[in-house]
Amino acid sequence: MTLSRTPGGESATATLSLRALHKSFGTIPVLKGIDLHVQRGEMVFVLGPSGSGKSTMLRCCNRLEEPDSGAILIEGDLLTGPGVDLNKMRRRIGMVFQSFNLYPHLSAMGNVTLALRRVLKLSRAQAEAEAMAALRSVGLSDRARHYPAQLSGGQQQRVAIARALALKPSVMLFDEPTSALDPELVGDVLDVMREVKDQGMTMLVVSHEMQFAREAADRVVFMDGGAIVEQGPPDRFFSMPEQERTRAFLSRMR
Ligand code: ADP
Ligand code: MG
Repeated sequence: MTLSRTPGGESATATLSLRALHKSFGTIPVLKGIDLHVQRGEMVFVLGPSGSGKSTMLRCCNRLEEPDSGAILIEGDLLTGPGVDLNKMRRRIGMVFQSFNLYPHLSAMGNVTLALRRVLKLSRAQAEAEAMAALRSVGLSDRARHYPAQLSGGQQQRVAIARALALKPSVMLFDEPTSALDPELVGDVLDVMREVKDQGMTMLVVSHEMQFAREAADRVVFMDGGAIVEQGPPDRFFSMPEQERTRAFLSRMR
């Protein structure tokens, strides 16, 4: 048996599959039939103008938004449709937002252990051990007792990454994880993301960090107007974009 690894092609082996995903807000269509398949260990980068539906697509993946039609599968298991245990499914999908979304009244450790205790029902001791390991993996073991307000934006985002990682998800979704950061703090977060990738995590990343996409992405997807316009490996995507809309977008980003 040969395993299909066609970029964006249908594949039974995909870790995350979006099939013919449609979503409207009121009468306005925002996702117009998205087909996207992320393979195990792959880092797929999503680029596109503001309002093109990138966040809505990610939010549909853990059902923060309810798609109107289409299907989402994680490791072959259907995430959409009735009768799905959402909490169980959400454990398999880690999400990192632009705004970190940490609890301000909890330390870094407290933020990570809360997720472990609530979601995985670990004991305090187990949760603290796992949380410490996760904080270590993002280079913050010496900041475990600090509160969000005592941490830089980059450190806060690394705590948020540790919180998602600690649950050992099958896939991690990132929605503009460095957009809220001062420029000098962006690099640390990108370094952590690359380490997460190097450890084999499957990642779907919405970001405008073009240089990082060139260096670290396995595939780049360009979205516009609620549809995937073009996709390919980063070297080809950036040097020889095929579609006029892609070229126009890239020239604006330079
Ligand atoms: P992107 O992340 O690419 O900037 P979004 O997915 O956030 O795009 O938004 C796509 C479109 O959907 C935009 O026109 C936005 O205004 C609209 N939209 C997003 N969320 C909602 C919502 N909850 N209610 C109504 N319209 C929304
Ligand atoms: Mg967005």
